[in-house]
Amino acid sequence: MTDRYVVIGNPVGHSRSPWIHAEFARATGQDIAYGRLEPALDGFDAAVDAFRAAGGRGANVTLPFKQAAFRYCATLSPRARAAEAVNTLVLEGAQTHGDNTDGVGLVRDLQTNLGCELDGCRVLLLGAGGAAQGVVQPLLDAGVATLVVVNRTAARAQALAARFPRITGGGYDLLDGAAFDLVVNATAAGLVGALPPVPASAFAPDALAYDMVYGRDTPFLAFARERGVRASDGAGMLVEQAAESFFIWRGVRPPTAAVLNALRRG
Ligand code: NAP
Repeated sequence: MTDRYVVIGNPVGHSRSPWIHAEFARATGQDIAYGRLEPALDGFDAAVDAFRAAGGRGANVTLPFKQAAFRYCATLSPRARAAEAVNTLVLEGAQTHGDNTDGVGLVRDLQTNLGCELDGCRVLLLGAGGAAQGVVQPLLDAGVATLVVVNRTAARAQALAARFPRITGGGYDLLDGAAFDLVVNATAAGLVGALPPVPASAFAPDALAYDMVYGRDTPFLAFARERGVRASDGAGMLVEQAAESFFIWRGVRPPTAAVLNALRRG
């Protein structure tokens, strides 16, 4: 019998997850169907309950439901607990297990696809929302030397930093000329064509600028390129986090390179 999965978000019509998982299923010979669910903003729990009752086996969760998913789950992986957000649901009978694959997706894209050495790396993280929350622990686990989090609303970055050892958080004024080997834009600024107020001095020579937004050229990526800094969008993170969810559900690790290339070609 075909096992059913969905991505849950609002809005969710733009999501490439159904296409990515269909490609993974074809490459690995797995018999799955993967669709979309768009509950009302206060309808997350009811939508998951109904999907489970109809035989659903698992789900990805995107904006704005990652915190609702965190609260919904009976059990959580250590990385979901660290992120305080869930992007992967495993539906097992009446129980739901929650995981978060965003961070491992970013780390795998950086290390495997982009050849970025994280061990000893000085990292600047822009933003303190759900996406930033999800990547802090995996970046620390990868051995980064320093991690600084700055956010438009400084208090959110301070609160995020306070939850982890060895990281500093505050407003953009905290930067004060410091240089980083990797600058990750985890803000939603690029979605509205805005540039977070990151100074050019934040990019060390040979730095990598990474924008989690994908499928468009953001002002952050253009700003970095204009200063001779290597820049990447978040398409690889999207594909790698999906691959980790697929592995959690199916026990098979799908190949990602061809899917990422096809996604980039549009
Ligand atoms: P979120 O929880 O809504 O947080 C948004 C963050 O962006 C906050 O830190 C916010 O600052 C900041 N921000 C928004 N507009 C800004 C602006 N004009 N200038 C400076 N900062 C601004 O969203 P999220 O879940 O963290 O997602 C952030 C982005 O990551 C989204 O674009 C999402 O598409 C992307 N993402 C990509 C992947 C992937 O697989 N590639 C995975 C997850 C997320 P304040 O706190 O001051 O409001």
